[in-house]
Amino acid sequence: MAENILELRNITKTFGDFAAVDGVDFELRAGEIHAILGENGAGKSTLMNLIYGLYQPSGGRIYVTDREAWQRRLRAKSPRDAIANGIGMVHQHFMLIENLTVAENIALALGQLRSNPARNVPSNGDYKQWLGKFRFKKEDAIRITEELSERFGLIVDPTALVGSLSVGLKQRVEILKALAVDARILILDEPTAVLSPQEVEGFFTILRKLQADGRAIIFISHKMKEVLSISDRITVLRRGKKVYLGPTGELTARELAREMIGEEINDVERSVSNPHLENTPPDNVLQLSNLTVLGSRDEVAVSDVSMETCRGEIVGIAGVDGNGQRELAEAIMGLRHNASGTIGILGANPQGIKAVRRRGVGYIPEDRQTTGVIAAFSVTDNLLLNVTHLANLAQWNVLNQKRKRETAEQLISDYDIRPPLANIPASSLSGGNQQKIVLAREISLQPELLIAVNPTRGLDVNAAHYVHENLLAQRDKKKSVLLISTELDEVLLLSDRLYVMSRGKLIEATAQRNDIEALGLLMTGETHTEE
Ligand code: ADP
Ligand code: MG
Repeated sequence: MAENILELRNITKTFGDFAAVDGVDFELRAGEIHAILGENGAGKSTLMNLIYGLYQPSGGRIYVTDREAWQRRLRAKSPRDAIANGIGMVHQHFMLIENLTVAENIALALGQLRSNPARNVPSNGDYKQWLGKFRFKKEDAIRITEELSERFGLIVDPTALVGSLSVGLKQRVEILKALAVDARILILDEPTAVLSPQEVEGFFTILRKLQADGRAIIFISHKMKEVLSISDRITVLRRGKKVYLGPTGELTARELAREMIGEEINDVERSVSNPHLENTPPDNVLQLSNLTVLGSRDEVAVSDVSMETCRGEIVGIAGVDGNGQRELAEAIMGLRHNASGTIGILGANPQGIKAVRRRGVGYIPEDRQTTGVIAAFSVTDNLLLNVTHLANLAQWNVLNQKRKRETAEQLISDYDIRPPLANIPASSLSGGNQQKIVLAREISLQPELLIAVNPTRGLDVNAAHYVHENLLAQRDKKKSVLLISTELDEVLLLSDRLYVMSRGKLIEATAQRNDIEALGLLMTGETHTEE
């Protein structure tokens, strides 16, 4: 049996009196791919940040086995200590410097290692000789990057500016950074969240290569299929606790899901055929004609998009993050001024977000922190933020406090917002629960048109299921929904008509809905020849 190269014993991390990680044991063997499976908020990232030295444990111990096969206690005060112990991490949110080149980012990673004691210098690479230098010559950094790229099949242009790379390529750079400092333990936090189906396949090939090279990988995901296909062993976390450890294949997907959520899951209804589409004449709600939107760097983010949504349908837009979806949604909402073409909503051309909202448009934004909730406001005020809500509650022009409270409490219970406290500030809720506030507010208004961008990101299985039911209910009430999501499964499940967005272009894809491979190709822009 392979030795453990990393061991966590009874590790706890509390924030205030909340235990994000609660008495967790974890072990990693040399050369294994060990998946950590858990719902959003289960404590996966926190656990990894503890190993990587970003957090200090509140209790428990971490041990690493060094190259000489000595096991000793790891007290990582910062990532630098973790890196020196052969631990590399690719975060859920990348930590790259966008206005430097790939090679420069790699050089920075190496520079970070340099200030550590000599025994921690990587033992394998040709680039060892450069480690003593404080600054890397440009050519050296490029050479090191090329060598690493070549060796692991992680092809990327060393001279490209990181800011200009796709998310998939940025991820490669992050992995290269970890490999540059010779990480023996690679922590990958939800690495596939930013990849298309094709890219996931390629990515798994790379992981197997790294494994064959003797590296141990901690693979974090909440996607069952992926975990089952790539891992050797699985640890399941639920609400901060380790609830299962076993070899992959010991439990079925369903049994694992039960471990994850601790109860029987509601099966998401598969048949979503839409009775309304058949015999009602189409009734336009949203009408986009030749819409072009410039992004924050004046690049063309949305390119000549024409489409419509009708009453009683959900139109889905699939695609990998960063292909113009955000700009498209914001333009429709009247939040982007660098736009040309026309945006018609129920026969009018409202200008600016207030006018758009007054036409009866609900909006679940991608970025809930800056546009979804007001952190300092209470949960109640966030739930009832919208003027329409307030108007519904006003009586003799006075806000009826009792009805306000009751409405908020009902929404909190319907959406299972936790903790179920109406008067605490929204900022004290987890991301997933803040998301539920936005959903509760926007959906409960039953808008004529609902623009939902990644509506279930950060939600647990049952909350996501509830949101899906609500979107379907909107449709059945003959409202119109534009669902923009990077979760392909979700778009396929809910959409009556389907598009793919790739590099700013919108491609009709309803005909390909049963062909994941074809969709994946559209998502990566492979079959899209005209530029
Ligand atoms: P996962 O990665 O499994 O989705 P996280 O480790 O990010 O989960 O979060 C676990 C729990 O800890 C969540 O409820 C989250 O809100 C909470 N949490 C994480 N980081 C902090 C922090 N810095 N302060 C307070 N609470 C936190
Ligand atoms: Mg996480």
